[in-house]
Amino acid sequence: MRPRIGITCGTVPEGGAMRLDLEYVRALVQSGAIPFALPPGLSEESLPEILESLDGLLLSGGPDVDPLHFGEEPLPGMGRIDPERDAAELPLARRALESGMPILGICRGAQVLNIAAGGDLFQDLPTQVVPLLRHVQQPTPMTYPTHKVLIEPESLLAGITRCVALRVNSWHHQAIRRVAPGFAVTARAEDGVIEAVEKPGPGFVLGLQFHPESMTEGGSPEATLLFEAFVGACAERARD
Ligand code: MN
Repeated sequence: MRPRIGITCGTVPEGGAMRLDLEYVRALVQSGAIPFALPPGLSEESLPEILESLDGLLLSGGPDVDPLHFGEEPLPGMGRIDPERDAAELPLARRALESGMPILGICRGAQVLNIAAGGDLFQDLPTQVVPLLRHVQQPTPMTYPTHKVLIEPESLLAGITRCVALRVNSWHHQAIRRVAPGFAVTARAEDGVIEAVEKPGPGFVLGLQFHPESMTEGGSPEATLLFEAFVGACAERARD
């Protein structure tokens, strides 16, 4: 049985339609999964049934999370927010964490995972962290890695990628600040910015600040290994 993996989607800025980058779909299909698009606007009551029908959850990238969700007022550097998406994803992430299903959070998805579990974010790195590398909108295609991350040797991330230093792409102006209880930081850029978090112990709960779904198309073996490991963990759950 191919594992069934839900991918969260956002709304387009004009509203009225949803958005899902096909790179996530391609990366999952290539690793042997069946992806399902999860639209914003799902009722909270339906979430247990939705999660019951899935073997894994991919929290995808997107715009900023409303700082309301971690108890802050908006700072001047805050970008576009998608309240309908926040309302769908945060409870979904919370329930998925409770269920013990494999979760992969990418960029905004890693941030959503951290907030859902009780952590918070920098709303805007360039105005809140000095000195800082270029994390915001790299000026090259996303298939090309622009900065290095240093990986904790004993982590899930190091085990999957088989390395302790990896060059990654970067398209984020927010980042995890306070890590949620029960989570560990397992990769940082050289300026200290958190690039990966995970939940230690059994299971697969991993948040990545970079975009492996773009790196697979750039021929990165580590990005391919990441999707294979995630889909493999989902397949294991599908068998149970
Ligand atoms: Mn970065």
